[in-house]
Amino acid sequence: MSGILTYALHYKGEFNKNSLGAVSEAAKLAKELGTEAHAVVVGDDVTDELAGQLGNYGAGKVFYADAPVGIAQPVVDVMAKLIETGGYSYALFGGGLLGFEIGAGLAARLGGGVTMEVTAVKAQDGKLVAERPILQDSAIVDVDYAGEPGVIIGRLNAFEIAESGGSAEVEKVDVELSAFSTRATVVQRGEQRGADVNIEDAELLVGGGRGLGKAEGFKLAEDLADALGGAVAATRAVVDAGWYPYAAQIGQTGKTVAPKLYLAVGISGAIQHKVGMQNSENIVAINKDPNAPIFEFSDLGVVGDLNKIVPKLTEAIKAKKGG
Ligand SMILES: Cc1cc2nc3c(=O)[nH]c(=O)nc-3n(C[C@H](O)[C@H](O)[C@H](O)COP(=O)(O)OP(=O)(O)OC[C@H]3O[C@@H](n4cnc5c(N)ncnc54)[C@H](O)[C@@H]3O)c2cc1C
Repeated sequence: MSGILTYALHYKGEFNKNSLGAVSEAAKLAKELGTEAHAVVVGDDVTDELAGQLGNYGAGKVFYADAPVGIAQPVVDVMAKLIETGGYSYALFGGGLLGFEIGAGLAARLGGGVTMEVTAVKAQDGKLVAERPILQDSAIVDVDYAGEPGVIIGRLNAFEIAESGGSAEVEKVDVELSAFSTRATVVQRGEQRGADVNIEDAELLVGGGRGLGKAEGFKLAEDLADALGGAVAATRAVVDAGWYPYAAQIGQTGKTVAPKLYLAVGISGAIQHKVGMQNSENIVAINKDPNAPIFEFSDLGVVGDLNKIVPKLTEAIKAKKGG
């Protein structure tokens, strides 16, 4: 069998969007290759019913295993066994930190090739070819695989979700975990602020940057977004600093948005940020530096201290809405 095996991550009985995109992509590619798309789900709370849901995204068969979720090595054990016994040619991941770690571990374990940050995959001459942006996204390279398995790790949400209306055969598998795979355990799962907000669908976005000063400074952006009925987005600088979750990052290495209003607060407007929000219908920027690049592509610019302006703006919007 030369099929594709896709890892699907779930939490509290729901698959994440990124994984559903990967399962859908695998189904599309398998059809083009004339092979099969199967999926694997790992966790101590997986049921036949949950695993079977992936049939609706094109998986013909779904394996599930009772193993710890949230750390990479147990999943590598499960996938390595399935690939060795099932003879899959490719393993596909939707991306995200766990996907990167599992995919890289799997390639190392099985001696396969791995490509990360993949934005598209095509079937060519009976093989899969991954497209990967390089040189700060200024060029795309085609990557194919010399050996098996070819591990393809998508950029977060790169693959589109497609419901097929199909159903999947479900099989529970028992996999003996390697001794080293159980040395790490998940002690606690934390929730990041804003991670549940789908900024790509928000019509009004308040983007917060380093000008907010510290993580707590995001309260100003959140209050403003609440008053507007919108969501909060962030620059990479603040995500890297741990002030806001990656799920909210806009730009070259984050999400691309096109809301009706993008209100940039304390954001300089670096090119890598601009590429993720430049298609917004209206861009308003608040920045204390009149020479900040963001003003070059804003419809309206306010020069001043955001700590003074944003609370007043929030109050004014609330007053207008209330009155
Ligand atoms: C390969 C690569 C990929 C990248 N990908 C991304 C990406 O996806 N997304 C992204 O955003 N960046 C990305 N970056 C980083 C990018 O180059 C910038 O460093 C980043 O966008 C800057 O974030 P910032 O605007 O929050 O911070 P800064 O550039 O530090 O700007 C802060 C702004 O706040 C203003 N300010 C400060 N205090 C106040 C105040 N009290 N009132 C009003 N204004 C104030 C300042 O004048 C300044 O303009 C990437 C960089 C590289 C090299």
